[in-house]
Amino acid sequence: MAKISYVDGLYLHYKDSKIHIEDRGYHFGDAVYEVVMFNEGIFFDYNEHIKRLLRSLKSLDIELPISTNSLKIIINNVIKKNRIVFGSVYIQVSRGVAQRNHSYKNLTLKPIIIISTTEKNKDYLNNFVGVSAITLNDNRWARPDIKTTQLLPNILAKTIADKKSAYEAIFIDQYDYITEGSSSNIWIVNYDNQLITRNLDGQILSGITRNSVKKCAMKNNIKVLERKFSKHELLTAKEVFLTSATSFVTPIVKIDNSSINNGLIGELSCSLRELYLKAMKSSN
Ligand code: PMP
Repeated sequence: MAKISYVDGLYLHYKDSKIHIEDRGYHFGDAVYEVVMFNEGIFFDYNEHIKRLLRSLKSLDIELPISTNSLKIIINNVIKKNRIVFGSVYIQVSRGVAQRNHSYKNLTLKPIIIISTTEKNKDYLNNFVGVSAITLNDNRWARPDIKTTQLLPNILAKTIADKKSAYEAIFIDQYDYITEGSSSNIWIVNYDNQLITRNLDGQILSGITRNSVKKCAMKNNIKVLERKFSKHELLTAKEVFLTSATSFVTPIVKIDNSSINNGLIGELSCSLRELYLKAMKSSN
């Protein structure tokens, strides 16, 4: 990368080009970007790249905080300051800096723009060879079992829930089975007072709280079945609750327009919360 970049209003040296640790782009991948090539002052497909940038921003409800004219001026400044003739320019806009929280509802943030440029050798333009490739299953992003910060689908889901005054969004897979919440594991209690939560089949995160709650239940002779369950089973369950490190065991009493347990906190959910919190008192 070249020496000078643009970071949130300032032209900075490479070593000072830093982003706040609570930038949502860093936390969640809550950001969009473009890369544009240029040669001797001429950009390749500039307008099309900017159009796509605006489209991506709109899809995420992020407003570009400056005009597209100003953006072009800044891009040209970065290139000039680095005295680059042929290379690429990287444009990134994140939602901004905020205390970590999935939902962005009610956040009035200033989006952070960063622009950097990379010089390329002119040979790159003229010399080329035939290359090889491999094939892979398209799994973008199909690895929810990995606890990565790539959380864009989760934050979009949580924000939709938040806008509907719901605490959590529950994901359903293509076969109508429940996977997990946007930031939690989901459990149901059936009419035999057995607990059901999805098995670790790669489609959910292996929640630490999920595992502790499972242990608490088993110690107290409550049967735990780890298997897929459908949306219908969810909506007709005796009780439903979610688990996560920060929500412990939290009963769910309404899903979409259906009441669960007549809208009341269930007995088993309540005792599991107590058992879990008690177990945590001596977990170290
Ligand atoms: N699933 C997802 C997608 C999550 O983000 C979380 C919270 N980290 C969980 C499940 C629950 O995991 P844990 O009990 O380890 O917090």
